[in-house]
Amino acid sequence: MESAASRLAEIETRIASACKRAGRARDAVTLIAVSKTHPAEAIAPLIAAGQRVFGENRVQEAQGKWPALREEFPQVELHLVGQLQSNKAEEAVALFDCIHSLDRPSLVTALARAMDKAGRQLPCFIQVNIGAEEQKGGCAIGDLPALLAAARAAELPVIGLMCVPPFDIEPAPFFALLDKLAADNGLEGRSMGMSGDFETACMLGATHIRVGTALFGARD
Ligand SMILES: *Cc1c(COP(=O)(O)O)cnc(C)c1O
Repeated sequence: MESAASRLAEIETRIASACKRAGRARDAVTLIAVSKTHPAEAIAPLIAAGQRVFGENRVQEAQGKWPALREEFPQVELHLVGQLQSNKAEEAVALFDCIHSLDRPSLVTALARAMDKAGRQLPCFIQVNIGAEEQKGGCAIGDLPALLAAARAAELPVIGLMCVPPFDIEPAPFFALLDKLAADNGLEGRSMGMSGDFETACMLGATHIRVGTALFGARD
């Protein structure tokens, strides 16, 4: 079996060469290791190999494994990449360092309140439903200006946009569109690219890529 360290090294090499091809600095892209469904025993070796930023998609699952991991490895940063229910906003603000799934006005209100209460401002990405898919999370492209205005009015630190493009279609046009939407709205961050397409995302301006399977192996 391949070790966590060798899988990480391979992904690192691929990120570096994609950045180089695009004329971007390697440190323009943050690798988020998405550890959902994987236990602490699978995560610790990756931290030992030097990985510092992790992502989870469920608050409850993260609450089960991360408090202990964070105590052991205080240098680690944890990002929420999955949908967030408003009634979990306080728990999310207590546990995570960054939210990638701000997608509706009610969540703006809930997160602003939770951050005020905790005295802790977390950077947020607005998730955009970039392929206009009915079943997908994220705000509609047409709703982005109003949602961004609401988030800014509530003093949420919005640092960028996030997307999950439609499955099984060439993702590049969707990454390019997210890049343009971010630029048009004066945002620096672009959270895009997963195991199957992170090199394309790096070449099209991703600042944060979210990689699970390629680092941890397949999920059940
Ligand atoms: C699971 C997940 C990922 C990682 O997907 P892989 O294909 O396993 O790399 C990225 N982003 C989000 C939002 C996810 O839920």
